[in-house]
Amino acid sequence: MRHPAIEPLLILQDREQTRRSLVQNLEAVPGDKARVQQKIDAEKAAIEAAKSEWQELETKKKLLETEIGSAEDRLAKYKTQQSLVKKNDEYQALGHEIETVEAEVSKFEEQELEVMYEIDAAKERFAAAEKELQDNIAEYQDRLQVLDEREANLKSDLAAAETACEEAKGGLDAKPLRLFEQVASRTFPTVVAVEGSKCGGCHLRVSGEAEGVARKGEELARCDQCGRIIWWESS
Ligand SMILES: [Zn+2]
Repeated sequence: MRHPAIEPLLILQDREQTRRSLVQNLEAVPGDKARVQQKIDAEKAAIEAAKSEWQELETKKKLLETEIGSAEDRLAKYKTQQSLVKKNDEYQALGHEIETVEAEVSKFEEQELEVMYEIDAAKERFAAAEKELQDNIAEYQDRLQVLDEREANLKSDLAAAETACEEAKGGLDAKPLRLFEQVASRTFPTVVAVEGSKCGGCHLRVSGEAEGVARKGEELARCDQCGRIIWWESS
């Protein structure tokens, strides 16, 4: 004969199982969200990296423009000086300076042109990377939204499961309930059948005495090995 508390204990155990798996699933959500958020952050960092490559070239271009400006100032100064000198050797010396600075300016201008081509290429790469990465970000944000919904659903399912557990506990006497809670805090499932003299939880052979108690059903029997509540599965 089965102890009268076994049936309500099995109902409670079933609901407790549901509750525990909901808790587990819910606990996994923040980690899942953090992993998706990390991916979003990585994509944003990649966009910034593509942008800084382009910005570095813009800085290089500005520096060249400054160099060209100052060389042109020097050129103008030499030309003014040259127009004022009387002596031929001074005129020639300044003419030499002017040639040197003109060569500098044209070298800087060539470099500037190269940088401008590089800027165009970098801009294109940035635009392509940005588009692709923004698409990825949008996808990850959708995933985050799905996770938010999942979290909300799990929370409401968990609230329902907790209510169901409380209801099942209400159908039990204090003593078997206390025993269940005590054993369930260590091991789960907590209420198992004995079949072929073996505990359905730890699969070890139970003593003849424990089996006898389970068979009789007057008291709640426990496995000698693992302490689970056992009941006799007649065969
Ligand atoms: Zn056992």
